[in-house]
Amino acid sequence: MESYKKLLLANKAWVKDKLDVREDYFLRMADDQTPEFLWIGCSDSRVPAEDITGTEPGELFVHRNIANQVIHTDFNMLSVLQYAVEVLKVKHVIVCGHYGCGGVKNALSHKHLGLINKWLRHIKDVYRIHEHELEGIADTDRRLRRLVELNVQEQVWHLAETSMIQHAWHTDQRPHIHGWVYDLHTGYLNDLLMLTPDTRIDDIYKFNFDD
Ligand SMILES: [Zn+2]
Repeated sequence: MESYKKLLLANKAWVKDKLDVREDYFLRMADDQTPEFLWIGCSDSRVPAEDITGTEPGELFVHRNIANQVIHTDFNMLSVLQYAVEVLKVKHVIVCGHYGCGGVKNALSHKHLGLINKWLRHIKDVYRIHEHELEGIADTDRRLRRLVELNVQEQVWHLAETSMIQHAWHTDQRPHIHGWVYDLHTGYLNDLLMLTPDTRIDDIYKFNFDD
């Protein structure tokens, strides 16, 4: 059988499973979505957001790109963020990276990979900002793991620097922004940091909403 046909067959079995539990499963699901979480994760096929968090359809609003980047000129990510924060009014935004990330690994190399180099360039910036700490780590694997963590941390701060997040913090005291790293070897999530609406950010990134 061609491999894609397996997916269509699995879909039929999945529908049956859901209907066996609740016959109105899809009727309820089609009504509306009220997810509490926005998930910004890596496109890597080994990090399925719903599976690793035990969430069901309807619970996570998801954006994925290579190496879970939050780039201020990325209209795709920004549109997802705006819709999640302003319309869906999510309570939590989660940036989830993962150890062994190919994007982060390639950013550490000098390989010319074409267009993807432009995207990974942002991770090289993270490296430069934390160069002192990273170059103090002799073991290559450990250095890569640390860069994965620092990359997540930087993307969390990038979110806090957006006008959407600052406005929601100012008017609605939400969302919390979380930085997590998924470990492919154990299946566990490593909870790295959380920013709350009272977080102080660098003055240069602040927007005024009072006038
Ligand atoms: Zn990745």
